[in-house]
Amino acid sequence: MTRAIDHNSPRKKHTVLVVDDQLLVVEAVRRMLHTETDIEFYYCTDPTKAIDKAIEVSPTVILLDLVMPEIDGMTLLGFFHANMKTEDIPIIVVSAIETPVDKGAAFSAGATDYIVKLPDKIELVARIRSHSQSYLNKLERDSAFIELNQLKAELEESNEALQLLSCMDGLTGVANRRRFDDFLAKEWKRAMREKANLALIFIDIDYFKKYNDNYGHQKGDDTLKLVVSALNSGINRPADLLARYGGEEFVVVLPDTTMQGALLLANNLRERVHALKIPHEHSDTDQYVTVSLGVSSCEAGQTFKSSTKLINDADKALYEAKDAGRNIVSGSCECKDGRCTVVDGMIYKSV
Ligand code: GH3
Ligand code: MG
Ligand code: MG
Repeated sequence: MTRAIDHNSPRKKHTVLVVDDQLLVVEAVRRMLHTETDIEFYYCTDPTKAIDKAIEVSPTVILLDLVMPEIDGMTLLGFFHANMKTEDIPIIVVSAIETPVDKGAAFSAGATDYIVKLPDKIELVARIRSHSQSYLNKLERDSAFIELNQLKAELEESNEALQLLSCMDGLTGVANRRRFDDFLAKEWKRAMREKANLALIFIDIDYFKKYNDNYGHQKGDDTLKLVVSALNSGINRPADLLARYGGEEFVVVLPDTTMQGALLLANNLRERVHALKIPHEHSDTDQYVTVSLGVSSCEAGQTFKSSTKLINDADKALYEAKDAGRNIVSGSCECKDGRCTVVDGMIYKSV
């Protein structure tokens, strides 16, 4: 019978599991160790149950007999090393065989140490403590390593969340001005490099000051969110970016999009906002909240000195839309063939 584990008493530092079919040997080892207050003692006289016993008591060192019936110590050594739960536990072979060949074979099979039966008590205790301590140190390093990796993963996760937050507009949840600046700079460089189209839409809510003054700032915030959701619902390409440019002004960056495509999209966004039917009794344009939109583009192969021209063109077009009566899309571009498209309710001039 092995000793039962008392889960209430604090665990001793070193835990020894003796695997030996001879009770006499087990008893001799037990006597050598019982005065050592930091060593807990377990044994197993049935080698077929040694692995289960080791998993049950989690020894920090195993004393293993070489000659046993059913499974010999060398085979058992292999089993201990093949099991994930026992593979790293140091194993001291305790054998009556003293030949160097056998000792060498035990080390080759994965033994940590080799002691000839029956050893001197002082030597046995010293070896047990030494191997057990190395194992405990390794466990500590492993758990510190795991903890470190967990911390690293948590840190990366919160960094990502922070990064996301630093790119996001707090009120509407879309990209903020900083994200827009970075995104446009990147897309503009790409368009120049790949001679690709790039378009921009500036969107400004009409008479929003009057809206705030009459319905209150809180209602104004709610309307901003509704307008953003309508704009978002109209932007379907994953490469496109909707951002809050500032106040009640928004911007859409449209990579690989021609002026004509951008004008059509802008008009669709205008209609979506109007379709919200948010009452605006103090607008001089409509009974509902409306937006004006200015579109600019850099057509494939055109070279712009910087993305600022794209912003300035869209801004200029937006003011044209405002001047022309609001709830309008306006856009102009330097198309090579000078083609000009007019979409419902918007002015599109070729320069
Ligand atoms: P226009 O048709 O020419 O664009 O007129 P407007 O009144 O919309 O333009 P203006 O630039 O004079 O006023 C913009 C207003 O938008 C001012 C401000 O009260 C409101 N606004 C800007 N940001 C916010 C916001 O975050 N929340 C709310 N509620 N209002 C905002
Ligand atoms: Mg406005
Ligand atoms: Mg404005």
